[in-house]
Amino acid sequence: MSTRTLPLRGAANPSSLRDGTNPGSFANAPNLGGALTFSSPDTPGMPQPSDKTAWDFLPPGWRREGDRAIAPAGFVPITQLEHARLGTVTPEMKRVAEREPHLSAEQVRSEVAAGRMIIPANTQHLQHALEPMCIGRASKTKINANMGASPVSSSTDEEVEKLKWAERWGADTVMDLSTGGNLDECRQAIIRNSRVPIGTVPIYSMIIGRKIEDLSVEVIMASLRQQAEQGVDYFTIHAGVLREHLPFVQRRLIGIVSRGGSLLAKWMLVHGKQNPMYAHFDEICEIMRQYDVSFSLGDGLRPGGLADASDEAQLSELATLGELTEKAWRKGVQVMIEGPGHVPFDQIEYNMKLERRLCHGAPFYVLGPLVTDVFPGYDHITSCIGATAAAYHGASMLCYVTPKEHVGLPKKDDVKQGCIAYKIAAHAADVALGIPGSRDWDDSLTKARAALNWEKHFELAFDGDTARAFHDEDLDVDTDFCAMCGHDWCSVRISKEIVEFASGKADGFERDKVAQSAALTPEQREILEKRGVLSPEEIHRLASKTRKAVGADGSKGSCHSDLVEPQTAQQIQEQRLVQLRTKPEVSAAE
Ligand code: SF4
Repeated sequence: MSTRTLPLRGAANPSSLRDGTNPGSFANAPNLGGALTFSSPDTPGMPQPSDKTAWDFLPPGWRREGDRAIAPAGFVPITQLEHARLGTVTPEMKRVAEREPHLSAEQVRSEVAAGRMIIPANTQHLQHALEPMCIGRASKTKINANMGASPVSSSTDEEVEKLKWAERWGADTVMDLSTGGNLDECRQAIIRNSRVPIGTVPIYSMIIGRKIEDLSVEVIMASLRQQAEQGVDYFTIHAGVLREHLPFVQRRLIGIVSRGGSLLAKWMLVHGKQNPMYAHFDEICEIMRQYDVSFSLGDGLRPGGLADASDEAQLSELATLGELTEKAWRKGVQVMIEGPGHVPFDQIEYNMKLERRLCHGAPFYVLGPLVTDVFPGYDHITSCIGATAAAYHGASMLCYVTPKEHVGLPKKDDVKQGCIAYKIAAHAADVALGIPGSRDWDDSLTKARAALNWEKHFELAFDGDTARAFHDEDLDVDTDFCAMCGHDWCSVRISKEIVEFASGKADGFERDKVAQSAALTPEQREILEKRGVLSPEEIHRLASKTRKAVGADGSKGSCHSDLVEPQTAQQIQEQRLVQLRTKPEVSAAE
């Protein structure tokens, strides 16, 4: 017998309401109402949480009295943050508490007031089908799915279909990143049809029909106003990319990979002025406050490869995002912060805890991060590994990455694969953090599995159709084993023979003879049909469809760089582009 003593920290960490977590759990005990909420213990050297919250950045003329604030006479609250500060529990906070059973409506209010949680709910969108939800580390981890028509592919109908598909596969919010087609119509249709909050990157629509150089402050404000009126719930605003940060980009392997970040960098270089989103931040806050649009302060300088992670460009921008968070809170606007990107696994905890410090606990919304760069085609996997670590160490929402990342526009099945990868990351982190009730689902499925109860097993599975199709592909009868090990080697069956598992079969389940499974549904059959790897002919057929779409039948697209003479390329560079990567300065030390 082993004399090893088990660490019993997990006793205070009830990710299963009934049983508590595995005694081996090392997550911190919950600290709701404090800076840590649900959190991982720190590896030595990690930045400590900020000792400030949104309470320290009240608008001028407000004062705090206990857990409430007093606003100047005649003030009319609009945003969830303002209501929370004034002590009002809104219907949206109540709905959030119903959806997060471990939190009371009062706890939701308190977290929103502290700025550690947001409820992205545009007052216009609330008049349609929006189901209020929250983003914050006191609640369950959320996932976002991106979609949007590009100039090359997709239409409004297709995007609405993708929205429904993403909702079906568990997306908690959806970002419409359209850069082509009828952007206004597409956005309107998505807002009208969505139950989940919708985010956008408004700069995309600002440059339709004009060059980035021609972007003016008037156009920026008009576009923001229009999208806020349409009902967009959160805006990605890349206000943290400053002129002062651009020299840091020269040292990178892949420069600026954020579309918004690169466009604004170009604008700054052409005009020799500061980022207009930064310079006019107060005005932006005022527009957003009117409809309670939340900020998703964009990471325009996020790393696009492991080599660029946690560099001066990225971290300087993060510090600026902290400063902007304080400003937005003073204006009564809800804030979350966007994060990287591509980050080696060992740097993820530091990145999450640094954000918590610099941005005073504002929810962190991260893209992945990808933990390796060399698996294009599988980046839903490389990134969901990073996303799991990110959520465990402090991120509140994970922006999905699909298998098409870096290589093309996601199609329906890519959206499903991305959502599922990220539901796995989010749920794994919630269980590890000990969010009450998270592990109950796992325990139920384990019991059904131990009881060899296939029906229950598929009913509880996140994607029961796929699980059942895979099962029936080999053995379409309900037996005491499956085709993986077979009857004689089925350890679960043998184990059940040794000790009758306490859960037994589900209520009402009787086994008097081996029963053939019901026929597969058309959807389950389709899952099996798609399992064959595409034949070379099919790959060519799909590729030529894309060539037609870009007007390049039979040869490379006219936009392909191989088709441009080096001399012409240089001319175009000089005339139209701004060189970011100029000759690096050589310091005296080098
Ligand atoms: S056969 Fe193997 S995989 Fe299938 S239920 Fe039994 S132990 Fe599990």
